[in-house]
Amino acid sequence: MSATKLQEIGQILRAHQRFAILSHLRPDGDALGSQLALALSLQALGKEVRVWNEDGMLEKYSFLPRAELLTKPLPNPEDFDVAIALDTAIQNRLGTALAAIRSSKIWINIDHHLSNPGYGDVVYVDSSAPATAEIIFRLIKDEGLPFNRDIAENLYAAISTDTGSFQYPKTSAHTFEIAAELIRTGLDVGRLSQQLYESYPRRRLELLRELLRSMRFQQEGHVASFSLTLKTAAELGVIPEDNEGLIDHLRAVRGVIVAVFFEELADGKVRVSMRSKTNAVDVCAICQKFGGGGHTLAAGARVRGTLSEVEERVLGEVCDRIASSKTTPASVT
Ligand code: 5GP
Ligand code: MN
Repeated sequence: MSATKLQEIGQILRAHQRFAILSHLRPDGDALGSQLALALSLQALGKEVRVWNEDGMLEKYSFLPRAELLTKPLPNPEDFDVAIALDTAIQNRLGTALAAIRSSKIWINIDHHLSNPGYGDVVYVDSSAPATAEIIFRLIKDEGLPFNRDIAENLYAAISTDTGSFQYPKTSAHTFEIAAELIRTGLDVGRLSQQLYESYPRRRLELLRELLRSMRFQQEGHVASFSLTLKTAAELGVIPEDNEGLIDHLRAVRGVIVAVFFEELADGKVRVSMRSKTNAVDVCAICQKFGGGGHTLAAGARVRGTLSEVEERVLGEVCDRIASSKTTPASVT
């Protein structure tokens, strides 16, 4: 992505007054941290900013600096100069946040998803970035926008979570350079890591116990999956944010190439979450077959059908892909 595109975005940000900063439903750390970081920078420029997400701020990210800025959208749609979608591969994943924009003179789309088709008037999609927050950092720095410790903490939380704590393959020297710059603002890495990774509610572990009971290995151990029924979710009092990251337990097993998590939803669909350990098996392509998308190594979809129907169809496709790829466990682990 070109520097001139960032300049164009920088000019638009400076030239307008009313902004909406949006991200995808079922947000993750990258979505929320990127939204807050950009919002704080624009506020420091004297801009009016709405920061909306269909789900509002999640309990587990409510420690983020100025988290109170991020809310569910207002019931009555509003008019904006600029609406900015962050970390959102397809526009309709903005959900009710999209419906809350009655009009916007300009739509900006900033993302790192390979499957992003490039909706909007000004598009900056860099699929080599491990997190949207890396692009927000670049925008703030290159365009000389306001930057401070609160912004740095939000960006750090976003990058840390989207890289699996600086582990996933897109984590680069540049990612660590950015992290170093963020830390130099005086942020406390130990405290932030504790808030991010050592502050889960007990029910998250109870959920993991139930998921492990349903754990299944196929295709000589190359495919691992587990599922969550509505009944179990209700019994445990699980909320959607509880399962972020649990799929990593499957990926962490030697020999596993693809991990899949199935979650029964109340609307007759099943949420499918998929991870791959090798570019030779592109889970984004698999999920696109089922109407979803994402990244080569991390993707998802919402598929209509019962839990067992969707499991069968999706796992059948995954096993076929593994069988036809030349991937061996040795090349993965
Ligand atoms: P997760 O498994 O963590 O929910 O999502 C992994 C990646 O896949 C994320 O980058 C997310 O944006 C994308 N993704 C997850 N679910 C869907 C979906 O239903 N549709 C699309 N297009 N992308 C999804
Ligand atoms: Mn992201």
